[in-house]
Amino acid sequence: MSAETIVVTGGAGFIGSRLCLRLCDLGYSVTILDNLSTGQLDRLKPMLEHSGARFVQGDIRDKAILERIISGADYLYHLAASISVAKSIVEPLTTLDVNASATLEILRLAAKYELKKVVLASSAAVYGDVELMPVNEQTALNPLSPYAISKVIAEQYAQLFNDFAGMPTVILRFFNVYGPGQDSTSEYSSVIPKFIHRVTSGQPPIIFGDGEQTRDFVHVDDVVSATILALGENARGVFNVGSGEAATLNHLTWLLLDITGNSLSPVYEAERLGDIRHSVADINKVRNIGYMPVVELRSGLEQMVASL
Ligand code: NAD
Repeated sequence: MSAETIVVTGGAGFIGSRLCLRLCDLGYSVTILDNLSTGQLDRLKPMLEHSGARFVQGDIRDKAILERIISGADYLYHLAASISVAKSIVEPLTTLDVNASATLEILRLAAKYELKKVVLASSAAVYGDVELMPVNEQTALNPLSPYAISKVIAEQYAQLFNDFAGMPTVILRFFNVYGPGQDSTSEYSSVIPKFIHRVTSGQPPIIFGDGEQTRDFVHVDDVVSATILALGENARGVFNVGSGEAATLNHLTWLLLDITGNSLSPVYEAERLGDIRHSVADINKVRNIGYMPVVELRSGLEQMVASL
């Protein structure tokens, strides 16, 4: 029997590339679609050389490419996105096009070619600022940026296709994903790679606000495990994917300084408009499909620092 084919959009990205590696190890035939806007082909090189994986450089807004790739697939992971909240404020229409309209076309084609499932990468950003922590999947959505709105729209299309078009979908709300291979140099980099970059180059980390804001930092390998579980027959609907643990930015900074043996003091600057105060996932629902986060924040950070 020939291997099942999985399309991964955004497969050259930070999370997508780790997912593709795992899928190849599991024996799937993987087709990656990525325009390399933030992705890097280098992340895929060993895999492309040693497995049957196929890389297609193209944009998810290109309907002809989408149709060509999706027509031969069994499953599809949709991770390609314009991922920067800051950029979404400057270019909201592009964010809407890439994150929402292209998702609609992907779902339409997936339904047309009767794929077995589409798994959509969404974000904890859809919750906005929530009073009561941890947030579960029933918490009301309160998107606070064009990025978050685009993810809510994409989610709603995915749910619509699941409910009314016989196209099974799963929506994964990723919290703050971190791990080796994450870009640390771009202005849009997230807090962990940014802090590591600064601390290891002798500069103090910059904390906006008092540092007591919390985040749910989840290691990319745990995220990939949840993403694989989402293919299972009992996985349908929306799932939070986090560690289930809250860490303050002050704690994160302390851990990094301790790991690197650095005595720098963080610099505190004014809180940024629109920043969320607390974010922690209730992960009971995803636990029910077999998910168990295994990478502790300290060991994940040690691994990242060691990989530099
Ligand atoms: P990433 O930027 O590393 O990966 C996104 C990939 O999509 C890149 O390889 C990029 O080149 C590709 N891409 C972007 N626009 C494209 C387009 N128009 N056509 C084709 N390819 C395109 O980001 P990531 O952190 O790996 O994020 C993957 C997914 O997870 C995204 O949907 C993101 O919104 C979601 N997410 C990530 C986090 C996180 O903490 N990293 C948190 C919540 C949600």
